[in-house]
Amino acid sequence: MKPLGIVIDFDGTVTERDIGDAIVKRFGLPGWDALEAKFHAGEATIRQLWIQEISRLPGDRVAEMTAFALETAKVRPGLRELLDYALEHGLPVEIASNGIEFYLNAILAANGLKDLQYVCLKADFSPEGSSQLVIPEDIVSCARNAMCKCARIWRMQRMASHVLFAGDGMSDACAGPEADILAARSSLARMAEAKGWAYIPFEDFWDVLAAVKKAV
Ligand SMILES: [Mg+2]
Ligand SMILES: [Zn+2]
Repeated sequence: MKPLGIVIDFDGTVTERDIGDAIVKRFGLPGWDALEAKFHAGEATIRQLWIQEISRLPGDRVAEMTAFALETAKVRPGLRELLDYALEHGLPVEIASNGIEFYLNAILAANGLKDLQYVCLKADFSPEGSSQLVIPEDIVSCARNAMCKCARIWRMQRMASHVLFAGDGMSDACAGPEADILAARSSLARMAEAKGWAYIPFEDFWDVLAAVKKAV
């Protein structure tokens, strides 16, 4: 029998705060918010917004941005235990994130989670100060997101009996209804309420672990 698969969002889910967002607000060069108004008016996608925001990061300040990310990031409790349970029971786990590898990788490593697999976006930073979002080739984009988490759930569904997805926000909107079991908090939970999707509310990974144990 195939095992249960687990897909987890990073910003605002693994971490209590949205770190990508915090970095952009703290380090973004003038113009980083050029698309904000359009986005809120529904005239720009998260993908367009993110490409614009990353292009306004100072590529010559990566060390500072990484240090800020490590200072700011608090990992929700219970993730290590969830991962250990998954390893013990042969459950595949993946982080699927629209975040950027430089801070995601640093945060996982600093929190004893180096062995947690992830797929995410990258940034091409130049020492002259420029910055550009890079969407790796094996990542599928969709109409809204640079990284479409639906594709990650479908991929996981091929190797698992069913898939639990845990997320918190806008970049999880298309993936939410694709998961067999949805764990949601914050704006994703509000969206699930509004759309009538079944979901399990969570505040930390002890809640997610309880849902996993029920599902295996
Ligand atoms: Mg998130
Ligand atoms: Zn999508």
